[in-house]
Amino acid sequence: MNIPQPLIEKLRSARSVAVLTGAGVSAESGIPTFRDSQNSLWAKYRPEELASPAAFQRDPRLVWEWYDWRLQLVNQASPNPAHAALAEMEARIPDFRLITQNVDGLHQRAGSQNVVELHGSLRRARCTQEQCTFEHSSLIEDQLPTCSNCGALLRPDVVWFGETLPAAALAAAVEAAHSCEVFFSVGTSGMVEPAASLPYEALRRGAVVVEVNPLPTPLAVYTPYSFAAPAGVFLPELVRAVWPD
Ligand code: NAD
Repeated sequence: MNIPQPLIEKLRSARSVAVLTGAGVSAESGIPTFRDSQNSLWAKYRPEELASPAAFQRDPRLVWEWYDWRLQLVNQASPNPAHAALAEMEARIPDFRLITQNVDGLHQRAGSQNVVELHGSLRRARCTQEQCTFEHSSLIEDQLPTCSNCGALLRPDVVWFGETLPAAALAAAVEAAHSCEVFFSVGTSGMVEPAASLPYEALRRGAVVVEVNPLPTPLAVYTPYSFAAPAGVFLPELVRAVWPD
């Protein structure tokens, strides 16, 4: 991959970098994006039929079974070279913020520290009454998980279709997009708002925007640095080109 010299130099001198990642960054770890989930035993459902408050109200067991299956996939997977390259970038850049739409925790497992989870985490559950959160809840011998404080039903601590994002996470993401010198959009289709607007916010504030996605997205026409490549190939190459030592 031919990486333009001006981008290499910009990154070498950059003090602040923000990165937005989506499901594509975990595709090379074997975790399907929603659009690639057609091969699984859950293919007969659209994600909206499982990841929504109405779906949970209708059939909490079905929804928990789906999340248990997804958590199992994630537990069997390992971070890939794209996750590792982003963790390495964080170690090189003084002010580095990683904003992810993913709920799989693979960035943290690769060593990323400063991670904003816009859509929550598969590893947590939340009380449907009191909003307190718990690590690693799932169906236990087919029983729905309940809150150890009040006994109410727990739900996955993820943002479902039709729900608003956690305010603090969104504010941190917008702030990062507004203040960074370089903004990366990696493995995201740019279809899901409000995350989809972040690269445009960064562009408006004068940041250099870099996109990494094997398929073209609407963002590609707004930046000379749109790379049609898998993140696990492109990002390690970029890191090697910028910091060859
Ligand atoms: P998306 O499914 O809309 O888009 C994924 C994008 O990744 C596509 O544009 C695709 O071309 C690209 N892609 C595929 N392989 C890639 C690779 N190797 N390198 C780089 N890019 C690649 O995903 P989204 O934009 O994140 O939005 C969908 C929602 O699905 C998100 O809200 C997210 O929370 C959720 N989701 C998360 C996970 C996860 O946590 N791993 C998995 C599936 C869905």
